[in-house]
Amino acid sequence: MARFTLPRDIYFGKGSLEVLKTLKGKKAIIVVGGGSMKRFGFLDKTVSYLKEAGMEVRLFEGVEPDPSVETVMRGAEAMREFEPDWIVSIGGGSPIDAAKAMWAFYEYPDTTFEQLITPFNFPELRQKAKFVAIPSTSGTATEVTAFSVITDYKKGVKYPLADYNITPDIAVVDPELAETMPKTLTAHTGMDALTHAIEAYVSTLNSPFTDPLALKAISMVFDYLVDSYNGDMNAREQMHYAQCLAGMAFTNALLGIVHSMAHKTGAAFSTGHIPHGCANAIYLPYVIKFNAKNAKSRYADIARFVGIEGKNDDELVDKLCDKINEYNKKLNIPASLKEFGINEEEFKKKVSKIAELAVEDACTGSNPRAITPAEMEKLFTCAYYGTVVDF
Ligand code: FE
Repeated sequence: MARFTLPRDIYFGKGSLEVLKTLKGKKAIIVVGGGSMKRFGFLDKTVSYLKEAGMEVRLFEGVEPDPSVETVMRGAEAMREFEPDWIVSIGGGSPIDAAKAMWAFYEYPDTTFEQLITPFNFPELRQKAKFVAIPSTSGTATEVTAFSVITDYKKGVKYPLADYNITPDIAVVDPELAETMPKTLTAHTGMDALTHAIEAYVSTLNSPFTDPLALKAISMVFDYLVDSYNGDMNAREQMHYAQCLAGMAFTNALLGIVHSMAHKTGAAFSTGHIPHGCANAIYLPYVIKFNAKNAKSRYADIARFVGIEGKNDDELVDKLCDKINEYNKKLNIPASLKEFGINEEEFKKKVSKIAELAVEDACTGSNPRAITPAEMEKLFTCAYYGTVVDF
């Protein structure tokens, strides 16, 4: 038996934030990040709409990027004290992810991260509160997914939480919030969305329920990402929807080794952090070449769906990779780790350990082609030097 789960409601369109006026409840806590939502006036609007709905409102502000265990515990504590029946999270992926975990600890104060990291093993939520997610970036799609990533800085580990209990009840996909994204963030989050959709389409867990969402998301990214990057706000709106469709696909079909590789290299090098979407964009064409051995016809489907022509599947896959490389160029994303600026000696020293960790990543299980640590090391090496994947 398979399962397909989405939020009960997805409100979209300019001004859809106003739906908050219609929520029924007594108390709402708003979980928000560093300040852009406040600066652009969206936090004030959120507060006033919830008050218009007759609710008492409290704020939990200052969720940091890559939210910590401590922040989650402080948020859960604030919730236990205030006893909200709505949790409203607004901003980038971080405040929404943090709020998902706070929700679990609010409802189950005695649970632990060790218990929650077993995938699809959450206790039954919605005993105390329901959950609204309002994204301001167009990439993670955490507003519709069953995932949250919390970092334990003391232990130096990331807890990837996965359970359909933390799929929000309501997603508000209001493109006005996405207009606040700076240019580079638009490029990186957009390529993250493309990667979500492509990995979901070729995933071993793909299904007739996820395929149309993935394909539509892919074609929308190809149609709108470059214009969105260059400041066209109509294209920005379409990208906000495209990333949400991609999220609806991957929360059900899961991902693949592009994400495994990005997860394990994001913070691995001394030369600085590789933003998640940027790492995905770099690895994606290399992984397609590797995976094509097992998933050629699926990649060829994608190519045909976006209007690429070719005399056979091999040519279609090659041209799909060319198209991704061309987009990376237009978005000022480097074509290799070397071009990104990763030091060669450091790469050589660390690659075998990183490859091992990437194989063990939670996303590897649904990749269409199995991979050994030795093959993963070869794949990373191709992505470092920008060389052809032919194994
Ligand atoms: Fe991602």
